[in-house]
Amino acid sequence: MKKLKTIFLILLIFTLIFGLAYRAFDRVPKSESTEFLFDTYCTVAAYSKDADAAVSAVFDELSRLHSLTNFFDESSDVSKINRAKHGEKVKVDPCVINIISKAQEIKLASDGAFDISIAPVSMLWKFDENTPTPPTDEQISQSLLSVKNSGLMVDADEMTVSKTLDASMIDLGGAAKGYAGDVALKILREYGVEAAIVDLGGNISCYGKNPNSKDGKWRIGLQKPFAPTGEYSNTVQLTEGAVVTSGTYQRYFEHEGEVYHHIIDPKTGRPARQSYQSVTIVAESSMEADCLATAVYVLGTERGEALARSRGAKVYFK
Ligand code: AMP
Ligand code: MG
Repeated sequence: MKKLKTIFLILLIFTLIFGLAYRAFDRVPKSESTEFLFDTYCTVAAYSKDADAAVSAVFDELSRLHSLTNFFDESSDVSKINRAKHGEKVKVDPCVINIISKAQEIKLASDGAFDISIAPVSMLWKFDENTPTPPTDEQISQSLLSVKNSGLMVDADEMTVSKTLDASMIDLGGAAKGYAGDVALKILREYGVEAAIVDLGGNISCYGKNPNSKDGKWRIGLQKPFAPTGEYSNTVQLTEGAVVTSGTYQRYFEHEGEVYHHIIDPKTGRPARQSYQSVTIVAESSMEADCLATAVYVLGTERGEALARSRGAKVYFK
C-alpha cells in the first residue's frame, strides 16, 4: 500500500512538472518595449519568437519619423518646409510626402475641417508652454489669413514640397502618429511577427491573433474623457486595424474659467466647440483614423458621422 502511494505521488509530481513546462513552452513569446516619442509614451508589443529585433527596428523608424515631423526641431523636414519662401522646392523624405498627401486628401474630404496648414493658428495657442493664455482676436484673424490662403504643392516624383505663401506653415500633430502606427505594423509584418499591438499615446493599431484572448480578438478600451487613465466608456473589439481617439482632455488649459483644447476649427481659429469630449475612429489604417478623428471632432456628429461612413470607418462620440 505504501509502495503504491509513493508511485502515485511520483506520478503526480511528474505530471505537475510536465504540465507546467508544457504551458511555459506553449505560451506565445512576447517582446515589448516603451519609449517616449511624438510627445507621448509609445509601446510596441510583438507576439512571436525572437521578435526583439523587430521591435527595435520599429523604434528606430518611429524615432526617425518623429525627427522628420517634429515642428519644434529646427532640422526636421517640417521646419524646412515652414522656413521656406513661396515657390521654393523643399526636398523631403518620402514619408513626409506620404503624410502630406494623405492629409491633403482628408482636407478635401472634410471640407477643410482637417487642415495641416493650421500651424500659424495652432501655434498661437502655445499648448507646448507651461502657462498658455488665449491669443487675441486680432492675432487669430491675422494668422487665419495665412491658413485660408495657404496652398501646398507636393511633387511625389521629385520628393519636394512647396508653398504658395511665405507665411504658410504645416503642423503634422494630427497625422504623424497615425502614419507611424501603419509603418510600425508594416515593419513587424516584414519581420514575420505573427501578432502585434502598437500603442502610440492612445493611437492603437494591431493585427494577428491576440494570444491573451480566447477568440484571438483585440479588445481596446476607450478612455472616458477627464476620468483617471484606464477608466473606459466603451470597448471596441477587432481582429486587425486601428482605433484612434481625438479628445479635448488630451491637451487643454484653463484660463479665467474657460477651457481651451488643442483641436482647432480652421474656420474660426479657435478650439472646436462641441457637446462631446472625444471622437474615436475605427478604421483599417491608423493614418486614416488619426486624420479622421480630428476632422470628425471639428465637423460635429452629423457631418462627422457622414464623413466617417463615406470612408468606411466607424465612429464613437463621448
Ligand atoms: P489629434 O490629437 O490627432 O486630434 O491632433 C491634434 C493636433 O493636431 C493638435 O495638437 C495640433 O497640432 C493639430 N491640429 C489641431 N487642429 C487641427 C485641425 N483642424 N486639422 C489638422 N490638425 C490640427
Ligand atoms: Mg488626429
